[in-house]
Amino acid sequence: MRSSSEYIENLRRMRPNLYIGGEKVGRDDPRIKPGINAVSLSFDLAQKPEWDGLLTAISSLTGKKVNRFTHLPQHPFDLMQKQKMIRLLCHRTGGCIQRCMGMDAIIGLSIVTKEIDEKYATSYHSRFMEYLKWYQENDLAGTCAQTDMKGDRMKRPAEQVDPDAYVHVVEVRDDGIVVKGAKHCITMAAYAEELLVIPTRALTEADKDYAVAFALPADWEGVHLITHPVSVRPRRKLECPYASYGVSDSMIVFDNVFVPKERVFMCREWEFARRLALLFADSHRHSYSGCKPAVSDVLGGAAALVAEANNIAKVSHVREKLSEFASAAELAYAAGVASAIYGEKTSSGTFFPNTIYANVGRRLTGENIFHEFNLLVEVAGGIAVTLPYEDDFNVEPTKAWLEKYIIRNPSLSAEDSHRIWRLVENLTASSMACWYEIAGVHGGGSPVMETIALNQEYDYAARQRIARYLAGIDKELDQSGQLKEEPNSLF
Ligand SMILES: Cc1cc2nc3c(=O)[nH]c(=O)nc-3n(C[C@H](O)[C@H](O)[C@H](O)COP(=O)(O)OP(=O)(O)OC[C@H]3O[C@@H](n4cnc5c(N)ncnc54)[C@H](O)[C@@H]3O)c2cc1C
Repeated sequence: MRSSSEYIENLRRMRPNLYIGGEKVGRDDPRIKPGINAVSLSFDLAQKPEWDGLLTAISSLTGKKVNRFTHLPQHPFDLMQKQKMIRLLCHRTGGCIQRCMGMDAIIGLSIVTKEIDEKYATSYHSRFMEYLKWYQENDLAGTCAQTDMKGDRMKRPAEQVDPDAYVHVVEVRDDGIVVKGAKHCITMAAYAEELLVIPTRALTEADKDYAVAFALPADWEGVHLITHPVSVRPRRKLECPYASYGVSDSMIVFDNVFVPKERVFMCREWEFARRLALLFADSHRHSYSGCKPAVSDVLGGAAALVAEANNIAKVSHVREKLSEFASAAELAYAAGVASAIYGEKTSSGTFFPNTIYANVGRRLTGENIFHEFNLLVEVAGGIAVTLPYEDDFNVEPTKAWLEKYIIRNPSLSAEDSHRIWRLVENLTASSMACWYEIAGVHGGGSPVMETIALNQEYDYAARQRIARYLAGIDKELDQSGQLKEEPNSLF
């Protein structure tokens, strides 16, 4: 397993193919450093004995110890460890740890490649497993590029005016394929070493050129990343962990890019596009049952801290608000645990989370996200958005005035009071705050996607039978079957 310095050294060696604010830059650009800092934690903590078994796992491919972000879950406990690892790491960054997208993509690819082979006697699975062995042994940081530009939302890929609105195959050669198109909103791409590219939606036969999955080094010839970095305003003197982390998302342009055959994992098997899109999305929604409780913990923890600074911690409406954070965090976490326990072994050997519990957990946190920000700002007061600049705390004459008036709870020093409101400003009134709000809604799929997933998979008929029995329409209640979301349950 690598250290973060090895990861960063490798980034520095990559070909500069990032565009930020009108410039072409390399991976040493300071604007992407906050995101690199976040991913670095996933390397550094994996080296620490107290994180052994949580941030590390024994590879099902090689029997060697690997970073859990490169591991294929083999049983429910692996999924629970994945969820717990994400929650604990996100506490340290104050939010997204970012390396989950790559992990969820390898999980989806390990399953779908096996299923395509079972239908078509292709050799995608062994090809992918060879790739994954290399990926694990080199402890690579990958991300998932799923979301296509999509053009007109009401048209399928093959119906678009511009055929490049979705990434597609333009040529199949003996030694590989050529692809064209673009993906957007791709978190971590600017400091990922590998891009795992998968379809974004279900496809028809007419769309078969869009059924393509592959992996490429992020600096590969013909790949261009137009990157949007987000972080909070840098601190001058009042350094703190939260201010050192951030995120970058990229639009990735594939300009007639050659993908070598050994890196192609789906090519025109259109019936499997939906399966792969959902495998990634559902695995990612399970990952959300780790990171979204962490976001609730961060916002709820800040609410408790700022309540102390305002000396209102014992007031009943504040206690009520804190309990809302507790409910949201633990219900979402419990949904992840249930999803792990009621998951299933796929034919590939990868253990996959139960999709209903993964979806209801993700839906709860997505619907709740703005409410949680609202709870925190209610407790914090208006200073969350009107706090004077840090520089004014550092120079006279404003320094003396601010140090005198910033204190509300006399048991806290001026500096600690300042630190608390500066954190609340960062959490609620910064570009980072907006990022978390919108990531909470759309990341892992827009809310309607959870509705669609539930409507396709939830056993409404079983519930209707219960109501028919209770209404006296049916004389017997047949419970010999099982509710679909609990395949192992016994009545
Ligand atoms: C912070 C952040 C990080 C992200 N990170 C990643 C990442 O790492 N990798 C990745 O692949 N993706 C990532 N995403 C993308 C995310 O999955 C998408 O934002 C999400 O799937 C919605 O797609 P969109 O943004 O293109 O929205 P749109 O498709 O434009 O959706 C806008 C609205 O239109 C509706 N709509 C769209 N199409 C239809 C239709 N046919 N019928 C009816 N309604 C429709 C949607 O339901 C939604 O309400 C990220 C997004 C965010 C915000």
